[in-house]
Amino acid sequence: MAIATINPATGTTVRTFPELSEAEVEQKIGFAHDTWLTYRGTGFGERAELMRACADLFEKEADATARLMTTEMGKTLASARAEALKCARGMRYYADHAAEFLADEPLADPSAVGAKRALGRYQPLGVVLAVMPWNFPMWQVMRFAAPALMAGDVGLLKHASNVPQCALYLEDVFRRAGFPEGCFQTLLISSRQVEAILRDPRVVAATLTGSEPAGRSVAAICGDEVKHTVLELGGSDPFVVMPSADLDRAVETAVDGRVQNNGQSCIAAKRFIVHADIYDAFTERFVARMRGLRVGDPFDPSTDVGPLATEQGRADVEELVDDAVAAGATVLCGGRRPDGPGWFYPPTVITGITRDMRIFAEEAFGPVASVYRAADIEEALEIANATGFGLGSNAWTDDEAEQERFSSDLEAGQVFINGKTISYPELPFGGVKRSGYGRELSAHGIREFCNLKTVWVG
Ligand code: NDP
Repeated sequence: MAIATINPATGTTVRTFPELSEAEVEQKIGFAHDTWLTYRGTGFGERAELMRACADLFEKEADATARLMTTEMGKTLASARAEALKCARGMRYYADHAAEFLADEPLADPSAVGAKRALGRYQPLGVVLAVMPWNFPMWQVMRFAAPALMAGDVGLLKHASNVPQCALYLEDVFRRAGFPEGCFQTLLISSRQVEAILRDPRVVAATLTGSEPAGRSVAAICGDEVKHTVLELGGSDPFVVMPSADLDRAVETAVDGRVQNNGQSCIAAKRFIVHADIYDAFTERFVARMRGLRVGDPFDPSTDVGPLATEQGRADVEELVDDAVAAGATVLCGGRRPDGPGWFYPPTVITGITRDMRIFAEEAFGPVASVYRAADIEEALEIANATGFGLGSNAWTDDEAEQERFSSDLEAGQVFINGKTISYPELPFGGVKRSGYGRELSAHGIREFCNLKTVWVG
């Protein structure tokens, strides 16, 4: 894929960028490593000051940053602005808490191990490569960069090829905040150049958010090199609605959860599993709300759903829907791309899905909702867990026993009961099954790229 800004609302190429040469990449890795050798010796107080300065810049520049995101990947301007502000929040969170999260962990009774003193100490690992996607072009990067830089690691960013200006902004904003230049560098490269970087001994670990094939490739190379990885891959989150649920709130959240970011979020609710007693009532309201959404220019404040980010992305979503329809599924709304320029796809609701249809097993990365009917909680859980993914999950019920059952039996990295699945700096974020492994955010996220060293003093 060429490294270029292509406006998804019009299909127009705005700007293209040359790829870095191998020699340029080599120079940047060396610079990152040299920087780390001194940066790792800085204290939490110093790093926190830089991180807060960066958060200030993000807040001050949120309007311009939002326009950049909307131009490159088509999310609505309001959601892009919210993303910029969320980055600032994430930075402040780690500026405030890194010292506490990475404090020494002394053993209460060192005599149990024959020592005068024994403890666990978190130390930075070194240069970490982040391979990142376009869907939250700032926030996905920030949830790696803020904790990693606070821990004393340094970052190299290989961003998705369709968001080069977002990638360059990120490098620039860290530098302007006062971080030493080699602390965070953007590499404008194609995915072909990733392997050589992962095999470089100065690069010690990698984090990737994106598709399963990309994750598998990076993890395989890092496995071969015995390097740590964190993978955040796709999801096909279930959204279960039981009879005791507040139906109005459930419908509202179902629509918002499915079409957020124009349907392109790994933790978007994608499969709606509804108890038979309320199936008709839920589906009728859900379809009415989905049909009423405004699709159009993401810069227009009245737009609910903008274009998909790439032409290929829209083709993938179309194929999934067409495959289901050809095999007998029913489209309740949407299901056909509009005429005209841009990579738009309407909010779509499908029922009558069977297990041989691709959409049953694959992630629909666009505003397409699958609705299933479940006779009882057993069947709801069975359908919810009948997927290779295990990222987020949602259940709506006011019954405490059911809340407990969903919390323990949904196979996912996260369970949200009576609310929308959201990534919060304060809560761990990650998946099980083919959604990946490792955790981002919270205290767990900052510890991923640390050496937890055991210190024993006799
Ligand atoms: P990709 O996984 O292809 O892209 C994500 C990042 O990985 C990009 O930086 C990409 O670079 C890079 N990449 C791709 N292949 C490799 C590789 N073999 N080795 C190293 N890096 C690689 O996602 P797409 O944009 O193609 O989207 C395809 C599907 O992936 C979506 O439909 C969705 O299902 C899923 N996805 C999930 C996301 C999530 O949030 N979990 C985010 C994005 C996608 P480049 O852009 O240069 O190819």
